[in-house]
Amino acid sequence: MSLDISTLFLVATLICALLGVMLHYFGRQEKISALNWWGNAYLLGAITVALWTVLRPVFGEAVTLGLAGVGFITCGMVWNAARVFHGLKPSWPGLFLGALVWAATVASLSPEQEALRMTVGAAIVAVYAALTASQLSAERRKSMQRRWPTIVVPLLHGTVLMLPIVLADLWPSPHSGLVGNAWVMLFAVELVLYAIGTVFVIFMLVTERTVTIHKTAASLDPLTGMLNRRGFSEACARMIDREVNAGRPVSAMIFDIDHFKSINDRFGHPAGDEVLKLFATIVAASLRISDLSGRIGGEEFAALLPCPIDEAVTAADRVREAFQNCGIEVDDAPVATTVSIGVAGGPAGIELDVLLAAADTALYQAKRGGRNRVVATAEQPVSLEESRRKAAQTREHQVVARGNSVGQAVA
Ligand code: GH3
Ligand code: MG
Ligand code: MG
Repeated sequence: MSLDISTLFLVATLICALLGVMLHYFGRQEKISALNWWGNAYLLGAITVALWTVLRPVFGEAVTLGLAGVGFITCGMVWNAARVFHGLKPSWPGLFLGALVWAATVASLSPEQEALRMTVGAAIVAVYAALTASQLSAERRKSMQRRWPTIVVPLLHGTVLMLPIVLADLWPSPHSGLVGNAWVMLFAVELVLYAIGTVFVIFMLVTERTVTIHKTAASLDPLTGMLNRRGFSEACARMIDREVNAGRPVSAMIFDIDHFKSINDRFGHPAGDEVLKLFATIVAASLRISDLSGRIGGEEFAALLPCPIDEAVTAADRVREAFQNCGIEVDDAPVATTVSIGVAGGPAGIELDVLLAAADTALYQAKRGGRNRVVATAEQPVSLEESRRKAAQTREHQVVARGNSVGQAVA
């Protein structure tokens, strides 16, 4: 099979241009500036290859040397796109450095030193490819398994471009004769594969990031910035698994702000929201970085600590005291803020629902006991049914107690 080089380069140009437009379109739509950088690189690459195809037969090798410099700028743009994608600023010196090195090389070498010039050119591409690969693979949270294309695609590109260096002895003049044509053809095919491969990598990264953003948003409470019930449960499941392996106990606490409805009624809903935000800050500040906390309902919060119950009770009391003494004011008037907290501890491997149900029972006891206090479960919870039964019993008692006090008040 014989391939026509001009046709190959025409196809490469069109594909690059098409991908450039596509990247720009998605960049604008999704407001991802890195995609605009990538899009520009593709468009400039397409223009460069098109100009080279058209001008080289007329003006000869001088065109190749000049346009190669522009080609290195496109490599720099691809690398800068990877930087921007990871939240770094584009590097302007880095963008032009390859082209400058190339210009200096062309100016200082005699026309006969073609092999050395090609070596420098290929090395510039290889350096940009390596920089792009290391930048794209720098996303810390991702597993190596999913990141491999981000390393392999640019490195493969660098390797193909480096071939003339490796084969320099066997292949003294790549631009002449059959061998030279084969290399130019390989370059055209590789260009197309690299262009498509890189776009594949880009969309893989963009999709992954979008999924992460949506997942995070679905797990967070917008008012306080804490984990919501769903996020809290998921994070707790991970912590419980981890602690089981280490054979360590965990403790849960449930916080319920006292008479919160009355804060809303007296000072308004926005003031109530401020109290919730302040409480979230107090919880985060009073617990350790390794503890988990979340907002599991309107004015109900929960935490899971990788420690025995007595340590958790101390931490809970720290929260209670800090909230009582927070000194929040609305319209220059102090607002009394207190919280009731139920704490439950469990052996390694206990189910989260069991632990939370036990903490809930303790919370109701704290409310019943007069609020603004920490109550810990006396015994370790064993099963979900038992915990639920106890919680139901406590609530029944509370309703009866409330009924009695209402009755007394009326009487
Ligand atoms: P208790 O001491 O028994 O816990 O009394 P309470 O008033 O705190 O409890 P109750 O469950 O009767 O009231 C909770 C209130 O929390 C009712 C609801 O309007 C309010 N609330 C729930 N979510 C929000 C919120 O996001 N913002 C504000 N400002 N209020 C909320
Ligand atoms: Mg409540
Ligand atoms: Mg409450």
